[in-house]
Amino acid sequence: MTLMQRRSLLLGAGALGLGACSSTAMAPPPPTLVRPSLPPMRLSSDRIVRITVCSRPFRPAGPRIEVETVGDKRVVHNYGHGGSGWSLSWGSAELARDLALSGGVRDVAVIGCGAIGMTAATLLQRAGATVTVYASERLPHARSARATGLWTPDSRIADPDRVDPAFPAQWEQMARASWAMHQTYVGQPAEPVAFLDRYGVGGVRAPDPETGFQPQPAAPPVEVRFAGYGSRLAGLTPRSRLLAPDQHDFDAERVRLAPEMQFNIAELSRRLIADFQADGGRIETRTFHAPSELATLRQPVIVNCTGYGARALFGDDSLVPVRGQMAWLPPQPEVRYGFYGNGVSVMSRPDGLGVQRIAGDMFGYGVDDETADVLEAEDAILRAAAVFAA
Ligand SMILES: Cc1cc2nc3c(=O)[nH]c(=O)nc-3n(C[C@H](O)[C@H](O)[C@H](O)COP(=O)(O)OP(=O)(O)OC[C@H]3O[C@@H](n4cnc5c(N)ncnc54)[C@H](O)[C@@H]3O)c2cc1C
Repeated sequence: MTLMQRRSLLLGAGALGLGACSSTAMAPPPPTLVRPSLPPMRLSSDRIVRITVCSRPFRPAGPRIEVETVGDKRVVHNYGHGGSGWSLSWGSAELARDLALSGGVRDVAVIGCGAIGMTAATLLQRAGATVTVYASERLPHARSARATGLWTPDSRIADPDRVDPAFPAQWEQMARASWAMHQTYVGQPAEPVAFLDRYGVGGVRAPDPETGFQPQPAAPPVEVRFAGYGSRLAGLTPRSRLLAPDQHDFDAERVRLAPEMQFNIAELSRRLIADFQADGGRIETRTFHAPSELATLRQPVIVNCTGYGARALFGDDSLVPVRGQMAWLPPQPEVRYGFYGNGVSVMSRPDGLGVQRIAGDMFGYGVDDETADVLEAEDAILRAAAVFAA
């Protein structure tokens, strides 16, 4: 399921959760909520504390998870996770770990210290390997730190016309493994992973949703489709329910609600690195300019988790950047909900209230410019504020 398809579910008659697609789904329980009187979000562009921009590493054929021999090294590629890197990280790491250790080697290098590198390093370490991570930048400075942090396992993950026939099943395996592993971080100090209520807000009434907003950007002329695999996870994730008008605070025609998994990236990053180092893992700052430089590493097995960096390092021109931007407002710990609607996604994390302009999955396709766009940020906040009843 693409982000657009997922939003359609949020806003339409379907259920919010991926489990909505189950043909065996039971009738939803009757709503039991009363008007929640949500703590107000302080949505005002004069409160912006930072704007983060990042490119999703999209590969039409799906993430590259396979072995390549480079000189005398066995390189296990693990990159190209589009808008799903955090969501699929653990499942992808399992596949990479098994490929890396299949020859019996126990001294492994991981290149990359983002979501994909650190989860791969963690699982290799837990399997008994001695692991060293090499990276130009490490979390919280790697690109992964700029993600939204929602469970979006098939956001810009592949083009269904360009994937290997076995890919959908592999995707499902990765998603299910990741879903399970992420839940081991729920309820831990500082909540590295949490479930928060998430509203799908459709048909925003007042003010006129287009008044004063930037016009909807035209979709770029590209010949790709984004795959949607959400139906493969039927029954795994929570389903949404349609709320009655007196059960929500939004000035909108249709509002749906479901709990959604979210990654508190600042804390999750800190935990991944701290746990890895506490178990003896080493992280070295190092930049590789060509595959031939891998020969300088002592380890015979190297797991390549360089994300978009693989385009330059391994010459993978199939990697396409998909730009995304978040405007951040000061944290509001009392706000334990988020929403989609009126062309924006808003989430509350311990490190801030994040507001993102959503203008279709193709928004930002092919754009590798990571410069902040202040007008886009202000527009997103204006749109977000408009969904609440006066
Ligand atoms: C705006 C936005 C929102 C997103 N929201 C979500 C979301 O809600 N949920 C979700 O699951 N995913 C989301 N994503 C996607 C997710 O962020 C990516 O899929 C993920 O970060 C990819 O992780 P990575 O570790 O492969 O790459 P990176 O984080 O880029 O890490 C790559 C690592 O490799 C290193 N490296 C690269 N090249 C070299 C080199 N030549 N030499 C040495 N080191 C090198 C880098 O320094 C870095 O350490 C979002 C992405 C964006 C842009």
